Amino acid sequence: MPRTLLGVAGFPVAHSRSPAMHNAALAELGLDWLYVPVPVPAERFEEAVRALPGSGFKGLNVTVPHKGAAHRLADRHSRAAQAIGAANTLTFGPNGEVEAENTDAGGLLDAVGQPVAGLRALVLGAGGSARAAVWALIDAGAAEVSVWNRTPERAAQLASDLGALHAGRPGQADVLVNCTTVGLDGSVDAAEAQAALGLDRIDPPDTVVDLVYGHRATPVVAWGRSHGSRVVEGLEVLVRQGARSLELWTHLDAPIETMRSAATGSRGEGGGVGP
Ligand code: NAP
Repeated sequence: MPRTLLGVAGFPVAHSRSPAMHNAALAELGLDWLYVPVPVPAERFEEAVRALPGSGFKGLNVTVPHKGAAHRLADRHSRAAQAIGAANTLTFGPNGEVEAENTDAGGLLDAVGQPVAGLRALVLGAGGSARAAVWALIDAGAAEVSVWNRTPERAAQLASDLGALHAGRPGQADVLVNCTTVGLDGSVDAAEAQAALGLDRIDPPDTVVDLVYGHRATPVVAWGRSHGSRVVEGLEVLVRQGARSLELWTHLDAPIETMRSAATGSRGEGGGVGP
């Protein structure tokens, strides 16, 4: 019997920690499945995805630059994928039909690990991950969700699309979520990165979440820690979105601890570009 396949499609995708994380989880669950990287450029994405179910694939994680295209090609969409307009998880039905989900949203809330209902949230950034974060926080009942972005027009558009507030500059919040790429490549020092995000002008929130992850503490994580905030690292968000995807495909509880150690163990592979 051929093995059931899962994978992560991106371009590039060699850096991804998802194969290590998911293969460890599949082994722990006793499933003889295999999760592989699927490097595919944007212009080949749709035809590549259409070919996967016939090659034994049951599901696919999708990362940069394909999340919008994954949403567009799907036959059915979850509430989150529909509202966010992007998908990071595709599930293939028996006749090759494609269901789209966005587990970045629920994965973020799982990683935060405490209710956000009634809290003030501030999202930094207006790219794909910020859209998922804003939608998740609003859907989970945050009292106020503000979006700040270096390019203000993009924040204004995102806020208007999803019913959030556009912040002209970062303001006070209970929960801050960094969805920018600042800190990703380690090319700026912590003080420069914090200043680029306006963190030097606000009081630290109770909870600081950084979607960026890498070899060392990121500038946003360092800022949160130095001010005594509860800090949620990007690696935990990666693990939690992956766990939700795995549960969709297997209908089994994901072994979070195994996934966390596998993702952490592959820290050396490269840093911080989503699944
Ligand atoms: P994206 O769509 O490319 O958006 C990038 C954002 O970063 C934009 O808002 C951009 O602002 C902002 N930015 C870039 N350079 C900046 C600077 N020097 N100062 C201030 N803002 C700057 O990226 P994305 O897909 O949303 O991902 C964002 C980050 O989250 C990435 O680091 C990614 O690796 C990480 N991520 C992690 C997970 C996880 O599971 N942990 C999942 C998804 C994404 P402008 O609009 O002004 O260009």
